[in-house]
Amino acid sequence: MSADDFPGLSPGAILGILGGGQLARMLALAAADLGVRVHIFCPDPESPAFDVSAAQTIADYDDEAALAGFADAVDVVTYEFENVPASTAAFLAARTTLRPGARALAVTQDRFSEKTFIAGLGLEVAPFRAVDSLADLEVAVAELGRPSVLKTRRFGYDGKGQVKLAPDSDIARAYEEIGRSPAILEGFVPFSREVSVVAARGKDGAFAAFDLCENEHRDHILAFTRVPARVSPAASGAAIEAARQIGAALGYVGVFAVELFVVGEGDSERIVVNEIAPRVHNSGHWTSEGAQTSQFHQHVRAVCGFPLGSPERRGRVEMENLIGDAALRWRELLAEPGAHLHLYGKREARPGRKMGHVTRVWPEQG
Ligand code: AMP
Repeated sequence: MSADDFPGLSPGAILGILGGGQLARMLALAAADLGVRVHIFCPDPESPAFDVSAAQTIADYDDEAALAGFADAVDVVTYEFENVPASTAAFLAARTTLRPGARALAVTQDRFSEKTFIAGLGLEVAPFRAVDSLADLEVAVAELGRPSVLKTRRFGYDGKGQVKLAPDSDIARAYEEIGRSPAILEGFVPFSREVSVVAARGKDGAFAAFDLCENEHRDHILAFTRVPARVSPAASGAAIEAARQIGAALGYVGVFAVELFVVGEGDSERIVVNEIAPRVHNSGHWTSEGAQTSQFHQHVRAVCGFPLGSPERRGRVEMENLIGDAALRWRELLAEPGAHLHLYGKREARPGRKMGHVTRVWPEQG
């Protein structure tokens, strides 16, 4: 069946999820609220989502026999990470409904195609150049100047696969540092804040964006999200409009995040798009208690063809990530009135590993 004649599901349906991390775990919990059962496909036998799912397949993403069995056992498939191999996405899309589709993956897996796509919509991105050799990098540095940021085209996340080029840094060494991989060089954006839009798009084109949120990173990992973001209504409107355009151009079905930089102040404030995450996103975790519908419920609604829920905010919200040993504070957080603790059930707390998060919501003065 093609995605176009997909009839939409009812509670009782089975949602397949590629990936078994905390995002899949929270999707599975939300699915259960809606009467939808989840089947997780993940190679890691210790996947956090296995604790809360009705069925599991432990296999590699290129295991076609396992993928075929999975596709036949579920009604629709979604994914919790953007590095799903293209061949896996194509294999599944040919046997079942894959939401969001393979195009969203193809565009967002590669930073060059992603930036080209975004710029093609008339949205501002950092100036960028493809880098396939040291000679390319030298030309790109001459054109974009320094500081600038060298990023691998694929498999970069949480600051991995990226190096900042300072005016005095050794260009050849920076290229070695990213493993001489296919890359892009980006001009440095002198941003005042980092924000994101988490939004959902339904099969019928319905669009629902959560309020713009402001993200604070430490060591390249998201540490806090605060909502509302401190940006002008005009910049916030432009960011949400950018997300609407991106979702429509991708023919997207599900929840996605658009990460942006805010540049300038006052009347000259504007937004620059950094990247798109074709999935639920860490900067949307605040919605679990902070919005009428959580991003996880919203994604399950969208991919199952159910009506979208209201994204309305319930107050001023803060989400704090619990990274590594920070999760050892669980007892203290449970004792804090109004703190909502989410632990991911990961057995080992390594430095830099996301172990859980906590949200706090304060009523806004009317
Ligand atoms: P990314 O992997 O693209 O999400 O980048 C990780 C972080 O590096 C961002 O959240 C920014 O803090 C910083 N960064 C990435 N690209 C740029 C850029 N072109 N200019 C300034 N900072 C950047």
